[in-house]
Amino acid sequence: MKCQMCHKDINEKREFTSILLLKRMKAQTCKECLNLFEKIGDKHCSTCYKKSELEKCQDCWNWERKGNKVNHKSLYVYNQAMKAYFSVFKFQGDYLLADQFSTDIRQSLKCYKDYTIVPIPISQQRMETRKFNQVEALLEAAQIPYQTLLEKKDIVSQTTKNKKERMNSEQVFNRKEGVDIPMKVLIVDDIYTTGHTIFLAKEMLKEIGVKEVASFSLAR
Ligand SMILES: [Zn+2]
Ligand SMILES: [Zn+2]
Repeated sequence: MKCQMCHKDINEKREFTSILLLKRMKAQTCKECLNLFEKIGDKHCSTCYKKSELEKCQDCWNWERKGNKVNHKSLYVYNQAMKAYFSVFKFQGDYLLADQFSTDIRQSLKCYKDYTIVPIPISQQRMETRKFNQVEALLEAAQIPYQTLLEKKDIVSQTTKNKKERMNSEQVFNRKEGVDIPMKVLIVDDIYTTGHTIFLAKEMLKEIGVKEVASFSLAR
């Protein structure tokens, strides 16, 4: 068996029964590769979980100045290993990899019991090339029920937009038609970098009547 990250052989003895159960087991990652993933420890920004000595990071201060109160949790540092993981997972479409962090994710989302879980959508164009939404795949692997409330707009050229559309062109999400709007939503994304995607999703959810919005990502 080869490690899915570094492709080195994993010399682990397997019992016959575990070979039969292989399909239901986690994708195989060697110990060396697993050690490269870094869990976010105790020292993190209190509002976005960025690894930090500061109580609140600069990103969050900037958001607050713009009137956005960040309420985000994350599990892992977005380091080289995490980058490698996502590039294999997203761009090579390796569905087995979705299971890698499922126990962690399930554990972390336990404290959002009364929230409706809403994954960040990908556009129709992206869906056609990638064939799957990586955030939905992570949630499915973790057996977490979710609801899709948003749709990501396809990129439309400026000339075909009317004036109102141009004014709103920063917003990349639409409300999905015919869905009930819950009171509390937890937005789930794979990676939180600038917080901009989550911010736009949050804006749209508030606009359609969601009262409370928090967010979660696998990596920060
Ligand atoms: Zn490896
Ligand atoms: Zn922060």
